[in-house]
Amino acid sequence: MDGYGLYQLGDEHDALREAVRDLAEKEIAPHATEVDEQERFPAEALAALNKAGFAAPHIAEAYDGQGADSVATNIVIEEVARVCASSSLIPAVNKLGTMNLILGGSEELKKQVLSQIAAGEMASYALSEREAGSDTASMRTRARQDGDHWVLNGTKCWITNAGESSWYTVMAVSNPEAAKPVDGISAFMVHKDDPGFVVGSKERKLGIKGSPTREIHFENCTIPEDRIIGQPGQGLRLALRTLDHTRHSIGAQALGIAQGALDAAVAYVKERKQFGKAIAEFQGIQFMLADMATKVEAARHLVYAAAAKVERGAPDGSFASSAAKTFASDTAMEVTTDAVQLFGGAGYTRDFPVERMMRDAKITQIYEGTNQIQRLVMARSLLRG
Ligand SMILES: Cc1cc2nc3c(=O)[nH]c(=O)nc-3n(C[C@H](O)[C@H](O)[C@H](O)COP(=O)(O)OP(=O)(O)OC[C@H]3O[C@@H](n4cnc5c(N)ncnc54)[C@H](O)[C@@H]3O)c2cc1C
Repeated sequence: MDGYGLYQLGDEHDALREAVRDLAEKEIAPHATEVDEQERFPAEALAALNKAGFAAPHIAEAYDGQGADSVATNIVIEEVARVCASSSLIPAVNKLGTMNLILGGSEELKKQVLSQIAAGEMASYALSEREAGSDTASMRTRARQDGDHWVLNGTKCWITNAGESSWYTVMAVSNPEAAKPVDGISAFMVHKDDPGFVVGSKERKLGIKGSPTREIHFENCTIPEDRIIGQPGQGLRLALRTLDHTRHSIGAQALGIAQGALDAAVAYVKERKQFGKAIAEFQGIQFMLADMATKVEAARHLVYAAAAKVERGAPDGSFASSAAKTFASDTAMEVTTDAVQLFGGAGYTRDFPVERMMRDAKITQIYEGTNQIQRLVMARSLLRG
């Protein structure tokens, strides 16, 4: 491929963006303010995304999914996040909640779970605990084998879309005696109707208020033995490999939020008049816009390149995914803050979406590994050579 084509998405990706943008503007954007204000799940977005096949576009055709590649999946997440970050967590977390299974699960388990997600059910990912956030290997949730079942006990914390999802990828310690904690952790698929699975109360958050974040409890939660993903002891490695495939998608979410704020700011400065002219005519405003747009464009290239690298198994895929997530989320925070600034006092009110976008942007620097942890991952990979 020549360099010209290399830096241009294909027609299919462009057509996909057009279709998702149209759907997002017509069916998701009109509810975004209310979803945020009422802290309610964006049911309209879920219905619209399901109808169009965009709720879990990454599921392979073999499981009745759309078979979207990772760049296409990121375009879906980006375009939904441009109007409603909470709603963009539907496709993003459906990927996060199924990636362990896709990477390491048995064919029978894949058939059972992935076809349900393709048909409209949702999946969540349960790694974090109250005392095991960045230090994931210190988790305390236990899984013990009992005949032909696994019995889980413990509590997972901060689980996105918990209570809405049907399936949960759960990491738990199955061998507390393992020499290295990472080798003692296994991953399981737990269904909401499994006995002993309990959904806790909702967190009260700064942003992404339409996406419920809850604890989930396992009280002698009993699941069939074939719900383990891969072999015992592979769970944390699979969970960390999953994050390589999904951190750039959080980058895509951040990118969408930043693009939404930039678009709103460009429209506002052309309308708002001070000193007898549109504020867009002031060079101080123009320079801000130029810097915002530059960062958004740079983030877009990093996010798409990382998605492609991870999918084709490039050796620097993990680095690229962390770099894309870090740069795009820092960009989203900066660009949304600047957008509020460009709106002046109006930007600080709930009458305009930039205030919500600034609150929503913050989480992208925290979840799926904080940006400090991303920088550790990147530095380790650089120093390993
Ligand atoms: C809204 C929301 C949704 C979430 N969704 C999910 C989900 O669906 N599934 C899931 O499993 N988890 C989820 N999480 C959890 C999220 O991934 C963790 O919050 C995150 O990994 C950080 O862990 P922590 O909150 O325990 O912070 P801590 O680990 O306690 O970190 C506190 C601070 O210390 C810094 N820090 C920690 N260790 C180091 C270090 N070695 N070097 C430098 N700095 C360090 C951190 O960067 C941070 O600034 C979610 C969290 C939130 C808030």
